[in-house]
Amino acid sequence: MSPLLEVTDLSVAYGAIEAVRDVSFVVEAGQIVSLIGANGAGKTTTLRTISGLLRPRVGSIRFDGVEIGALAAHNILNLGIAHSPEGRRTFGRMTVEENLLLGAYTRDDKAAVDKDMRNVYELFPVLGERRDQKAGLFSGGEQQMLAIGRAMMSRPRLLMLDEPSMGLSPIMTQRIFDTIRELQSQGTTILLVEQNALAALALSDRGYVIDLGTTTLEGPGKVLLSDPQVRAAYLGED
Ligand code: ATP
Repeated sequence: MSPLLEVTDLSVAYGAIEAVRDVSFVVEAGQIVSLIGANGAGKTTTLRTISGLLRPRVGSIRFDGVEIGALAAHNILNLGIAHSPEGRRTFGRMTVEENLLLGAYTRDDKAAVDKDMRNVYELFPVLGERRDQKAGLFSGGEQQMLAIGRAMMSRPRLLMLDEPSMGLSPIMTQRIFDTIRELQSQGTTILLVEQNALAALALSDRGYVIDLGTTTLEGPGKVLLSDPQVRAAYLGED
């Protein structure tokens, strides 16, 4: 069986700037896989390319065995890839419920959409309590929950989360990581980009280190966690 997502020798450029160079990794169905690496390493660019927001210059992106590198973003969403972008990007003038419904706009199975909405409210009770309030009034952590909830509402087969813990308190970060684990147990495959390498690797079936635009190390999350190079570079140890 082919992996759910297979990225092979991917290169992506912004004009003359090559942001991603020969990146390769695999996400098997049911796994949590994380991409870690310093600021500017190319992680966000990689996710945006998988989503169809940027075009590969070279390389292949296969989802469930189908090449998607040339598809438009809405077709990629329809195939079952959802993306919770860096910096949250919720719609501040819309309510929680309206934001969540936007995540489900490609679906017409109303009963299942309602069920998924209840699931989001169960995972994040604060969203349920404040479903009629405008998202712009929310704290960073709450908006992060909403961004993840909105991505879940497309009922994705692959959920990509870009820096879900960015700017959050340690308690809120823990909530987000607990939720990621819960989503995995509900059958969602997750591709995670994180600055918080320690927490991400502890949670991940597999991790990849991206350095200066290219994949340099890979392994099971727990093995990478004990790798001296990873500890020195990303966990602040010498
Ligand atoms: P961060 O965690 O800081 O977002 P990252 O690993 O996600 O880092 P990217 O955002 O993918 O890294 O950036 C990779 C490289 O591409 C960086 O050198 C960055 O400056 C450059 N870059 C990103 N976006 C653009 C853009 N729109 N135009 C030109 N260069 C860009």
